[in-house]
Amino acid sequence: MDAQAIYMYQNNPNDPPARGSQRPGNGSNKGSNGGGPKDTGTSLLIRSIIIVVVLLVGWYLFEVFTQSNNSSTANVMEIPYSTFYQQVENNNVKSLVFQGQDATGVLNSAITVHDVNGNTKTGNQFHFTQLANGDPQLTALLIQKQVNFSAKPASDNNLVLNIILNILPWILIIGFLFLVFRNASRSQQNIFSFGKSRAKVVLEDRPGTTFADVAGVDEAKNDLVEVVEFLKTPQKFQRLGGKIPRGVLLVGPPGTGKTLLARAVAGEASVPFFSMSGSEFVEVLVGVGASRVRDLFDQAKKASPSIIFIDEIDAVGRQRGSSINSNDEREQTLNQLLVEMDGFDTRQAVVVLAATNRPDGLDKALLRPGRFDRRVTVERPDWNGRLAILKIHSHDVPLASDVDLISIARATPGMVGADLANLINEAALLAARRNLDAVTQVCFEESLDKILIGAERPLILSDADLNVIAYHEGGHALTGLLQENVDPVTKVTIVPRGQALGVTQYTPLDDRYNYSQDYLEAQLVTALGGRAAEEVAIGHITTGAENDLQRVTAIARQMVTRWGMSERLGTISFSEREDPFAGTSLATGSREYSEKTAAVIDEEVNRIVKWAYSRAVGLLADHRVTLDRIAKSLRLHETVDAKQLREIMIETGAIDAAPASYR
Ligand code: ADP
Ligand code: ZN
Ligand code: MG
Repeated sequence: MDAQAIYMYQNNPNDPPARGSQRPGNGSNKGSNGGGPKDTGTSLLIRSIIIVVVLLVGWYLFEVFTQSNNSSTANVMEIPYSTFYQQVENNNVKSLVFQGQDATGVLNSAITVHDVNGNTKTGNQFHFTQLANGDPQLTALLIQKQVNFSAKPASDNNLVLNIILNILPWILIIGFLFLVFRNASRSQQNIFSFGKSRAKVVLEDRPGTTFADVAGVDEAKNDLVEVVEFLKTPQKFQRLGGKIPRGVLLVGPPGTGKTLLARAVAGEASVPFFSMSGSEFVEVLVGVGASRVRDLFDQAKKASPSIIFIDEIDAVGRQRGSSINSNDEREQTLNQLLVEMDGFDTRQAVVVLAATNRPDGLDKALLRPGRFDRRVTVERPDWNGRLAILKIHSHDVPLASDVDLISIARATPGMVGADLANLINEAALLAARRNLDAVTQVCFEESLDKILIGAERPLILSDADLNVIAYHEGGHALTGLLQENVDPVTKVTIVPRGQALGVTQYTPLDDRYNYSQDYLEAQLVTALGGRAAEEVAIGHITTGAENDLQRVTAIARQMVTRWGMSERLGTISFSEREDPFAGTSLATGSREYSEKTAAVIDEEVNRIVKWAYSRAVGLLADHRVTLDRIAKSLRLHETVDAKQLREIMIETGAIDAAPASYR
């Protein structure tokens, strides 16, 4: 990751649900995992129906074959050798064909015979079986009586065909029964697994989804293009010994399209897609999860090039031993997963995609090189993205001419793809209930109201909140732009990300191991720029700056105690060690200095922070027009990139103040 997100307007931590970590259960998640647990009742019914159908088909085939066999011989009488001999003597045999011990013939005039069962039959075609050693005088007799006779080789094709035709129905029946029973015993195994028949046998799937079906997540798409290329022509990559992407972790809030993207990668590369959800691995007997992982990987390897997709990987991949009631099954499954990830042959073109909305708790072992060492962030869409998603999902919905998708996209900040798909669905249902020919703008507006009221958390921030966030982030960005010694601002957004309601991104110019005092001071000013903008532009301050203030305090304290940047205290290190950029609270370690020194340290930290804050306020007040423009632009576009920022700076005449911060 080259972009470093530092300053964010924070969600009030007292709000119970972390924004984005929970979603309303009002059906907006539908279709995310494709098929939940199967209802055992219906599948049992289906299975019995299959058995019955198979038996009927088998019986029918049997009948057909045996009948057709019989019908060719239906009017042929079976007669004893003696009767035959008699008929020859009586000059009544017209012709005769020998085939092995069998002989069939035609009589001149029909006769009536009684068979062993007492049935009578009349006809002129007959069959009899010759005597075991043949009859040496028969040929002479036949010639004498002028019977037309011939012979066929004993092992005739007909015989083989007959045998096959007789046996085939049985083979079919036995084969079907075998398959049915094997399936039945398989599912039984799952029924016995504590009744949790969540068995979704890993099936090969070839999704027709493409990147065109996914919108508003262009960065993630760009990151995945390489994976598609690799799967399309693995030889090309392997020939040069290049490192192939093995594991890619898709990270993002629920409903942003992670599953959809994974399927689109498979669709784009037209390779088979093997998917399983993390929770499916865990909720079964010990050892079953691990063997499912093995199955999954075995199948995918056989079908290489292919994709394995593990949804909700946090269900298996949580840090081991982090909870007291450790879950053996989960750990076994996780270990198996690690083994499988390592066990790939370099020639096997199998890419493992995984999705999660909680990447922090993942076991570090999963993220090591060769495993899930690539991370693709799937962000909430900004309004352009939302518009594109609305367009995709309304493609097959007849829209009335008054529908303005742009205004709907504008009115739904914070909503993700699944929310928007749900919105369109609700609007279409509403239109159907009202017997309309097309979905109207009113349908959309009413559905949106309904969804917003039904949602557990506010899906959409109020106008006033958005205004504060826009000014806050604008303040971070502008203070960054106006100072020389800071990293360039790459992007500002008021689209929520994780805990943050807005983010300003900076790209460090190079890896820094040394921070100059100027750099650190500029950092303090930018970090306080958010809070300062609230004061300058809105007149009151909010709780959104908590994270900023923690960072500021940590940096200022380090400047004083570690780096000797306070003239009053001089160049002395007061051994307090922590990462100045982690923003963590200060450790209460043992101190090596007096109470008096401690008080001076506090005063100095205070002084530095105050100075930085007043500088931030000064900068923003001096460039109020620019600040207003940035905030307005943020409200309009939600995301503003470096180029747009630069344009605003030039247009408002602020550019001259900070020539060096542009590169
Ligand atoms: P996730 O896996 O991130 O929770 P899903 O991929 O399951 O989200 O998304 C659920 C549904 O929402 C998708 O099937 C799709 O209809 C819709 N959706 C979500 N994100 C997008 C997007 N970026 N573009 C188009 N549709 C989307
Ligand atoms: Zn902030
Ligand atoms: Mg999903």
